[in-house]
Amino acid sequence: MKIITRFAPSPTGFMHIGGVRTALFAYLWVKKNDGTFILRIEDTDQERLVPGSVEHIKEALSWFGIDWNYGPDKPGPFGSCIQSERLEIYKKYALELEKKGLAYPDPYTKEEVEAFRKTAEAEKKPFLYREHRPETFQKWDGTKPLRLKVSEIKKYKWHDIVRGDLEAGEAALDDFVLIKSDGFPTYNFAHIIDDYEMGITHVFRADEFISSTPRFLSLYDALGIKPPLFATLPPILRDDRTKKLGKRDGAKDVLEYRAEGYMPEALFNYLTLLGWHPTRDKEVMNVPELISEFTLERIQKGGAVFDIEKLNWFNKEYINKLSDVEFDQHSKNFVPEWLADMKDEYARLRQLLREKVSTFGEIGPMFERGSELGFVRELSDYLADMLLWKKNPSREEAAKHLAFAKETLTSIDTDKFTAETIKESLWKYAEDKGRGDVLWPLRVALTGQEKSPDPFMSAFILGKVESLARIEKAIGKLK
Ligand code: GLU
Repeated sequence: MKIITRFAPSPTGFMHIGGVRTALFAYLWVKKNDGTFILRIEDTDQERLVPGSVEHIKEALSWFGIDWNYGPDKPGPFGSCIQSERLEIYKKYALELEKKGLAYPDPYTKEEVEAFRKTAEAEKKPFLYREHRPETFQKWDGTKPLRLKVSEIKKYKWHDIVRGDLEAGEAALDDFVLIKSDGFPTYNFAHIIDDYEMGITHVFRADEFISSTPRFLSLYDALGIKPPLFATLPPILRDDRTKKLGKRDGAKDVLEYRAEGYMPEALFNYLTLLGWHPTRDKEVMNVPELISEFTLERIQKGGAVFDIEKLNWFNKEYINKLSDVEFDQHSKNFVPEWLADMKDEYARLRQLLREKVSTFGEIGPMFERGSELGFVRELSDYLADMLLWKKNPSREEAAKHLAFAKETLTSIDTDKFTAETIKESLWKYAEDKGRGDVLWPLRVALTGQEKSPDPFMSAFILGKVESLARIEKAIGKLK
């Protein structure tokens, strides 16, 4: 069997974690089976359309490296992948159903249907349109909604690849709308026609569609076609497990993760593990590995917890794998502009940044005034007293130690001016005279800050010339 899956977002806003996770599963399954992946735009709810969403969806998928065989920009043998461009197809099926007596125009006004609903509510009964089905049907002229006439009220049983055998009773069945009075089909109708016309073999989607599945099945019956296989993905939960992940808990626009400096490979890897697990005990897997490992059996039923700490850990793992050149490419957009011009300083900082950050977005704030690396751009104007070690606040002593440091650093060749050599050259002296006494004034001299990397690292980052100038300046302050 040739595997054909689809990702079928509605262009009603941004793509969030849940949507992407669905796309990734469908994509992995297709790639594993050398199948066909369709990106279908479900834009039949015209009132909910948000301009720019289609571009956004394409951009988000592309960021993850997901490509599609057919999509909004690549029609297939079945025609367009945009539902609003397929109205004639839905109409054809709708007319066939009407001809078979399995669909009919809704004779009521909106207000009348609303009144039925209210009465049912007042009687504490579920509202079922079919209880008000007219005895005779008029001919559908397109001005009224067209409804399915559900012929058999029965219990439906079906198999879900993930959830197993499911069933739902009569209450789930009703004469639902196929085509609305604006001429657009409902999701319930359009997706079934499209899945059929596009030859979809596997439907991956969220669990909110389970309750509607009996309705879908009644329509498959009416159409006389076979449903594809359903794989219902587990919900993504927030970390206290009490609720589905909401916007505030991380279900935000996935491109925000890009803006925050996450690597798409890391997010791809992490999201795949939200509801699926590999056989081996290996979590960090690149896309080819994920494709080869991916199986439907190991998609879990129960909710998967979204844990931002875990995602950050994955991102760091992926950062660790980068070569220096790759790291620079990724960090380029995140280092402050002024630093981009300080190539030598940046090269010296790289190692420290690599160790510290788990997302590239953390880089910028580290260089803000008052932050750990704020001193790199410029020395802030500190008071001479700050140079004095608390336990021995003597100006003479501080000046003497700084003079020693200056002399020592001067004697190190520029090309050997590394954190290690600087440390080696000063360490014995610091041990003899008291570490705090020697290293505290040096740290303040170099950075003007109480919190910074150690003085050896700080001197290395600044380079020989700038370090000596700053020490000189500190000595001047103490006079
Ligand atoms: N358009 C639906 C949504 O965005 C897709 C559901 C499905 O995959 O069938 O939720």
